[in-house]
Amino acid sequence: MAAFKTLDDLNDIAGKRVLVRVDLNVPVKDGKVTDTTRIERVAPTILELSKKGAKVILLAHFGRPKDGPSAEFSLSLVAPSVEQVLDHAVLTASDCIGEAAASAVAKMNNGDILLLENTRFHKGEEKNDPDFTKALAANGDIYVNDAFSAAHRAHSSTEGLAHHLPAYAGRTMQAELEALEKGLGNPVRPVVAIVGGAKVSSKIDLLMNLVKKVDALVIGGGMANTFIAARGTDVGKSLCEHDLADTAKQIMIEAATAGCAIVLPEDGVVAREFKAGAANEIVSIEAIPDDAMVLDVGPKSVDAVKAWIERATTLVWNGPLGAFEIEPFDTATVAAAKYAAERTKAGKLTSVAGGGDTVSALNHAGVAEEFSYVSTAGGAFLEWMEGKELPGVAVLSANR
Ligand code: AMP
Repeated sequence: MAAFKTLDDLNDIAGKRVLVRVDLNVPVKDGKVTDTTRIERVAPTILELSKKGAKVILLAHFGRPKDGPSAEFSLSLVAPSVEQVLDHAVLTASDCIGEAAASAVAKMNNGDILLLENTRFHKGEEKNDPDFTKALAANGDIYVNDAFSAAHRAHSSTEGLAHHLPAYAGRTMQAELEALEKGLGNPVRPVVAIVGGAKVSSKIDLLMNLVKKVDALVIGGGMANTFIAARGTDVGKSLCEHDLADTAKQIMIEAATAGCAIVLPEDGVVAREFKAGAANEIVSIEAIPDDAMVLDVGPKSVDAVKAWIERATTLVWNGPLGAFEIEPFDTATVAAAKYAAERTKAGKLTSVAGGGDTVSALNHAGVAEEFSYVSTAGGAFLEWMEGKELPGVAVLSANR
């Protein structure tokens, strides 16, 4: 039994008003949606409920409006793309509560889909204000949350509503939670984590949590320099947070106590300029020239990363191994990603990856589709990796 209710637990919903929290926070340029990935992700839940005859009422935030309603942050900009992706008519309302919402809901037929206006046009949303939550709840009989990416926020539409209405996880939320459970919640061991990216400072909680949960932690990217420098090795002009030497040491101590192997690069690809095609050379990590910076981990390190991936049954990945946006410093990230994809395809590995730049790095390597699960939920995915309880998820579990 899942730790939360899903659409499988929802029967006889014809004619019921189902409030569905979705992530429609899509990028828009010149008034046009430029990427419909987020809409595609929530489409299965919306269409399933509509086919079952529910009145599907969508709740979402869009951008960061500061002072109430504005044309710039109106979900009416997104509605045409929702219609297109769903291949189904989408009704709209000029507010998410009050008379405008109530009259739009009252006009709905079974199976209709209605997109209410941006929840963040009301200050109560982000304050999880009980009066605002009640006003939202007035238009629904059932609450479905399909917005994992907003689950780290305790807002009215992501958390509050579950206290007022029977609450269920949508299909995307369900898939995300099941994948995360396999990744770190209840993984098949050995579990290896790869953490890269620019800085230790943005990932201290994440590293501290991982060393307690995984069998090996592979550290790459700019943040590896901070660990290497903390060990007493000169890192030249590399990106390095020298002031975090004690934190890095503490993470290594915690790892040793927990029996987690810390895997740092043995070699690096160094350059004198941070730009594509910059002249570069491979050096031992103990011999970084004073005037050079490490922009990628070297071939010996890549072999070591691959060996850890080969040993692993479960892989959790956040952050690139090098400055992957500028060639050839994408080499290690691409090689490791391809190998993880190969092991996954061979049925030897469960691979879960996520966090902003990781998704673009895996897309760049052309293997995002081949991982077991790639989360597009930036902040929520990172908080999950940090071991934090996500309010939007906790409240669904409490409703079980
Ligand atoms: P993050 O958002 O923390 O995952 O960091 C991702 C960024 O780290 C990417 O923009 C990479 O270019 C950058 N990065 C990775 N490795 C290095 C490195 N060795 N030196 C400088 N930047 C790096």
